[in-house]
Amino acid sequence: MYESALIAAGFAFAWLGLHWYRRRALLLSLAESAARLADGQQVRTSTRRMDGAIGELSRAIDAASRRVVERERRLHSDLRQMRVVLDGMADAVLAVDSRGRLTFANATANRLFALDAHSIQRLIVELIREPKIQNAVATSLAAGGPYRGEIAVTNLDTLGRVHERVFEAHGSSLPGEATTGIVLVLHDVTELRRLERTRRDFVANASHELKTPLSSIKAYTETLLDWGLEDPDVNVRFLTRINEQADRLHQLILDMLSLARLDSGDSGWERRPLAVVPAVEGYVESHRARAESKGLTIVFRTTSISRADAIMGDEEALRQIVDNLIDNAIKYTPEGGRVEVGCRLAADEIRIEVSDTGIGIPRDELPRVFERFYRVDKARSRELGGTGLGLSIVKHLTQALEGRVEVESRLGRGSTFTVYLPRPAVAEAGVAAARPAAAHA
Ligand code: ADP
Repeated sequence: MYESALIAAGFAFAWLGLHWYRRRALLLSLAESAARLADGQQVRTSTRRMDGAIGELSRAIDAASRRVVERERRLHSDLRQMRVVLDGMADAVLAVDSRGRLTFANATANRLFALDAHSIQRLIVELIREPKIQNAVATSLAAGGPYRGEIAVTNLDTLGRVHERVFEAHGSSLPGEATTGIVLVLHDVTELRRLERTRRDFVANASHELKTPLSSIKAYTETLLDWGLEDPDVNVRFLTRINEQADRLHQLILDMLSLARLDSGDSGWERRPLAVVPAVEGYVESHRARAESKGLTIVFRTTSISRADAIMGDEEALRQIVDNLIDNAIKYTPEGGRVEVGCRLAADEIRIEVSDTGIGIPRDELPRVFERFYRVDKARSRELGGTGLGLSIVKHLTQALEGRVEVESRLGRGSTFTVYLPRPAVAEAGVAAARPAAAHA
């Protein structure tokens, strides 16, 4: 009896020992799962179906694992989206840690400073040689936050040409501990600054151009009032000058208004098929008397183009383009010279050429003649009644008609200005062909 009690107690101890051992093994396996979970790995415990405390603990670990995995997936997707957004920005974005090492650069920054994945964790001073950028980073890091300044960055292109770009730089501290670092955003304002400069130059030039004829008018008027009224010869001479200067002022104001209309994009030009040959022929005829009175020959010729061939455009715009070019050709061609106006059909465009045998334009001045108020010879242009705006208007008008204008010239031999204008699509051309016939009817 006593023996059997001992045996039973022995069994009980052995069972308890086994049970304790098994429970310990299960708890160790759960502890291992929890450690893997803490490491960010997905876990699935084998004891999740068990009853009691171990089963409950397992299910809690599995549920936590599912939530962690889901959160991580969402985080990755958010990060990917953020990366796409940052890479799509036109601004360059650089993140730099407190030791001056690059921690992030978006696609624009990569392009601008030739950075790549290997640049991450390298020192900014090694990666970006531009002292002003280095200074912006250092200042922003030292201040532990806000920085604002304008930075000009010079780049060499593949042909070795220098390009300067101007950036507005904004530095701010990254959220987190004080040592996290800063983010520098560079916003390209090159075009804005260029436009501001152009506007300033335009205002300065326009004021000067307006002042010149006004000063003349005032001087002649004062002289007349002082003593000139008594002398009939002086009267006529001075009033003629006043009239010329008033005409010049009038032309200048008309040209400035044309440019202002073109700049505002509120030109109101029509876009419809317009037969070119009859129109240009008419413009040439309207200049014939003036050209011939100056002893010039003026001719109009067509090459492989019919009277019905059309451009998409506005008659007033076309008139201003061709008038300005013929006017210049007459102005800058000395007596005995020749002005030739031609229309030619090319595949999908019509070319209008205005050439002369005049004074020509020096090669290095050619790219500038389309700038506002630019004149090769200021005195000569003024004397001939030029405003310095004609070619600028021609350029803007051709662009408004989706075309372009080019110039070739040889000093002392003459110049050729060629305007290229697109032809209407096939369906629209039918309307153009029908129009002249309808007009005759
Ligand atoms: P402007 O009113 O002075 O003629 P434009 O803008 O029409 O102004 O032309 C700019 C400058 O380009 C002129 O001042 C002149 O120096 C030069 N230019 C334009 N057309 C000709 C041409 N056909 N022959 C020679 N020079 C020209």
